[in-house]
Amino acid sequence: MLAQRMSYLSGSGTAAAREAAAEAAGAGRHIIDLAAGEVMIEPPSSVREGAIAAINAGTSRYTDSIGLKPLRETIAEKLSAQTGIGWKTDNIAITAGAKQGLLDAALAVLDPGDEVIIIRPCWPTFPSQVLLAGATPVFVDARPPTYTPDISTIWATVTPRTKAIIINSPNNPTGAVYDRPTLQAVGDLAISKQLWIISDECYSSFVFTGVRHESIVTAHPSVRSRTILVNAFSKELAITGWRLGYFAAPPEIVSAAKKLQSLTTSNANVIAQHAILHHLQAGDGSFERGMHERLSEARLTGLRILSGLHDVTPPPADGTFFFYLDLSRLISALPADGPIRSSEDIARLLLDETDVGSVAGGTFGDVNGLRLSFGAPRNLLESGLKRVVKTLNSLKTTQAAA
Ligand code: PLP
Repeated sequence: MLAQRMSYLSGSGTAAAREAAAEAAGAGRHIIDLAAGEVMIEPPSSVREGAIAAINAGTSRYTDSIGLKPLRETIAEKLSAQTGIGWKTDNIAITAGAKQGLLDAALAVLDPGDEVIIIRPCWPTFPSQVLLAGATPVFVDARPPTYTPDISTIWATVTPRTKAIIINSPNNPTGAVYDRPTLQAVGDLAISKQLWIISDECYSSFVFTGVRHESIVTAHPSVRSRTILVNAFSKELAITGWRLGYFAAPPEIVSAAKKLQSLTTSNANVIAQHAILHHLQAGDGSFERGMHERLSEARLTGLRILSGLHDVTPPPADGTFFFYLDLSRLISALPADGPIRSSEDIARLLLDETDVGSVAGGTFGDVNGLRLSFGAPRNLLESGLKRVVKTLNSLKTTQAAA
């Protein structure tokens, strides 16, 4: 019999959506995959050169479990420039992607019985990792169209057992980018109630339309002693499979991660560490600028196509590379006894009948949402979104006739 904790884990809904799309493609269908949480471009040449140089130099040994010191130093400098807050090497741990940093954070600060506030819709790994640490996720719903959390609702959710709050801006799946007053209000609450803040900023380089990403430690510097700021190179450098991330936190959390990682995975892949170090030292920023330009154009093209939707308001898509559609108006206009009653039904229909992969909002704790990635190649994005618009616009007619 498996341990009880395994029953808490729902599995990754985003991975399941990706697998469903891959399975359909494997069966010979031409699937346009708008489900993937990654940008479909080649990684920067400086990352590849750094990896090849490390391999050719015979690099093969363990590193410190929290990473190579020069890499931690370089990240501390980069983050200091980005946040306007000074970080030192002993504030930084290198992790196998953001996921490991988030799990380190949960295991380091949560005890069984603790409660953790999570803003929903949310990336499903957050509640699963809280449960793995023996604590309880407590959800606060953020509503469309802004999907920004209501601070008084968060205050009302705090109990004597609340130990932490997880925030994720820019947000997966909603694309919301929290403004300074929101971040400051979360910070005030955390200070007043003595909470840890786990701030997932993995999409920090993906903000559009003149919106600015601000870290919570920049908006409210006094929270820094209670903040674990998690980030990764996965999305920013299009290297999701390389598994390289980091977090910045008080040294006691970094020491806890050192123990946790030495007992579980040891260090993040040494070749990936050297590759990123080379990129941070030798990269000229052109890859990052090119990626941003490409996504800005894809976003505008996508929004233009989505403006053709009849019963769905196009999303603001301020940040990340996701369009998050609120389908509530459309769903409520469909026959109550018909086959399409949720965004999950719609995601299934899109895959089965129009060969487009998407992620239903249920994955993120929201029955009304649908996530579509604009990190897909441009031509596929355009035809995929056109098919989505056509299918959604015809639903009222086809379902009434069914
Ligand atoms: N945090 C968020 C909000 C994500 O959406 C993802 C991946 O989709 C991650 C973290 C995981 O990042 P990594 O691949 O670096 O573990």
